[in-house]
Amino acid sequence: MPAFDYDLVIIGAGPAGLTAGMYAARARMNVLLIEKAAPGGQIIVTDWIENYPGFPEGISGFDLAEKMKVQAEALGLKMETAEVQSLNLTPDVKELVFQDKSIKARSLIIASGASPKNWASVKTGTWARESLFAPPVTPRFSRKKLWWPSAGETRRSRKRFI
Ligand SMILES: Cc1cc2nc3c(=O)[nH]c(=O)nc-3n(C[C@H](O)[C@H](O)[C@H](O)COP(=O)(O)OP(=O)(O)OC[C@H]3O[C@@H](n4cnc5c(N)ncnc54)[C@H](O)[C@@H]3O)c2cc1C
Repeated sequence: MPAFDYDLVIIGAGPAGLTAGMYAARARMNVLLIEKAAPGGQIIVTDWIENYPGFPEGISGFDLAEKMKVQAEALGLKMETAEVQSLNLTPDVKELVFQDKSIKARSLIIASGASPKNWASVKTGTWARESLFAPPVTPRFSRKKLWWPSAGETRRSRKRFI
């Protein structure tokens, strides 16, 4: 019988991983949530969220992420900052491999989400690899004609920012 470090390990502390983690922590499971960056996932880079239930006035992505993190911690969810490098999966054991260690879990939830496409057209018909979501690259686009492939408040605020 293999020795498990955790009943459940969740990869990714975006809204999906944090929600799963809260349920598991409330159920008193021996659970670990692993996040390579900061809790909140993609919503951290979202200026304003208008479609999340419970916030009729809207809320900034950063504030929503912080509230989710505080709520998860209050429910006793254990979180660790690390990047999962690879997985060894068998029906009985889920092994997560990090740069300097590995851990074994009885079950695994992969909530590693997505990365927004890095697309910005600086000239019609050409595609740049840099993302307009990343502030450090924005000076590259100053005094250039930009085509915006999305809509909504995020687009408007990025446009103002640039
Ligand atoms: C600019 C922008 C604006 C948006 N605006 C809205 C909006 O207004 N309303 C709305 O409903 N949705 C919006 N979205 C979409 C919303 O943010 C996503 O649908 C949501 O975050 C998905 O949640 P998730 O938990 O599935 O994944 P993610 O939020 O992608 O979280 C996944 C997490 O997993 C972590 N991770 C990945 N791989 C590993 C690994 N190997 N080891 C450890 N950790 C790992 C990542 O670092 C990340 O934190 C927006 C997205 C963006 C980018």
